[in-house]
Amino acid sequence: MVERKGKTMSDFDVIVIGGGPAGSYAALTAAVNGCRVALFEEHGTIGWPRHDPGWLMESDFAESVVNAVDGVVPWSRVKKYKVCRAESGDVIEESAVGGYQVRRDLLEKEIAARAAMAGAVIYLKTRVTGLVRKGGKVESVESNSDVIPRAGCRLIICADGIRSASGGLAVVEGLCRVGETHPGVSYLLSNADVHGGVIEHFLSTDPTLNNRTFFAHHDGQTYFSGMSDSSFRELKGRQDNAVSRKIKNAYPVEASGFGRSRTGKYGKYFDKIVKDNILFVGDASGGAGNVHGMIQGKIAGIVASAAIKENDASEKRLSEYQGSVFKTLGRVPFCWFSAREDFGSFDQWFREFAEITRGIRATELCRNVD
Ligand SMILES: Cc1cc2nc3c(=O)[nH]c(=O)nc-3n(C[C@H](O)[C@H](O)[C@H](O)COP(=O)(O)OP(=O)(O)OC[C@H]3O[C@@H](n4cnc5c(N)ncnc54)[C@H](O)[C@@H]3O)c2cc1C
Repeated sequence: MVERKGKTMSDFDVIVIGGGPAGSYAALTAAVNGCRVALFEEHGTIGWPRHDPGWLMESDFAESVVNAVDGVVPWSRVKKYKVCRAESGDVIEESAVGGYQVRRDLLEKEIAARAAMAGAVIYLKTRVTGLVRKGGKVESVESNSDVIPRAGCRLIICADGIRSASGGLAVVEGLCRVGETHPGVSYLLSNADVHGGVIEHFLSTDPTLNNRTFFAHHDGQTYFSGMSDSSFRELKGRQDNAVSRKIKNAYPVEASGFGRSRTGKYGKYFDKIVKDNILFVGDASGGAGNVHGMIQGKIAGIVASAAIKENDASEKRLSEYQGSVFKTLGRVPFCWFSAREDFGSFDQWFREFAEITRGIRATELCRNVD
């Protein structure tokens, strides 16, 4: 029953908070598996503002995603991932695989659309403001929306993203200490000196140059992120390094803001990612990465739907989700900033991730194509 103007309580099996890749995929999986699902997203659209350049790490999962959305979401194959010195441009390492480059905003939108086709109800411009408990379990959520100020549920999948750890639900629920989130700007650049199918990642002791990366599409455009518009312009004007030379003649055709955490080590899961009847997925669980988040959404959706069918949404039952995540993704987290430190090379990180997630596919996206 869908609430109008808050007069009646809506009841769902699963309420998903946040429509990023993790939340949208969780909503899709739970809906495909027969749950009554509501997805609450605070923005007026799914996918925008765009949170990142849309690089999907090499894996069976990423391959099945791009095949499932082919023709709807533009994507290209990444044939090489190059790590270079920012000052000289010298190559430090070059991996033979790289994954895929997608329009991430459109991918999220498509996943959410397929969740809706499978029966999920999507509420946009609806920010969840609180969880209401009874007997130690969340029984409903409150929102800032006049349309659905309160909605009842049997369990929650919390996918409120990076801000979860800086005042969002991960902090409120005591899963982590309060962290900081810093804003950044990502650009779609035209006319940069890039090569389609190649990601170029630059390292330097100069913080303005360190971790600057070109995620190039086959059409010659590239995503490029920075701390602020002024730092981008400063970088463009410098001629003492390879990064600046690449953007000398480039101009932004699209810009979007994003938040970046400085809490602990990027992409390391919290010790606990299930609490009461809440499953934390994606960045809200301390993890990171689009493929990581979608796989977490898939596992959460499967465990949630099984728990609903068994009429057991206890923390003990739901901890199957935590066990699965720690056994797979937890061993090869999205440690983009520290990949070389943690795995010795990007190449090694890619291989281990592809291996540990082998056989996990986006089957829920595929079955909704017809
Ligand atoms: C600069 C940068 C570049 C990156 N590049 C890549 C990359 O190329 N590839 C990659 O795999 N990863 C990349 N990442 C990491 C990636 O962006 C994140 O891991 C990913 O976005 C996490 O997805 P998510 O669904 O968990 O959260 P998000 O994408 O952050 O989605 C959370 C959603 O929840 C909504 N929300 C929050 N609070 C509420 C609330 N209370 N009520 C309702 N809705 C709410 C938000 O509006 C948002 O839509 C990058 C990160 C950064 C900072």
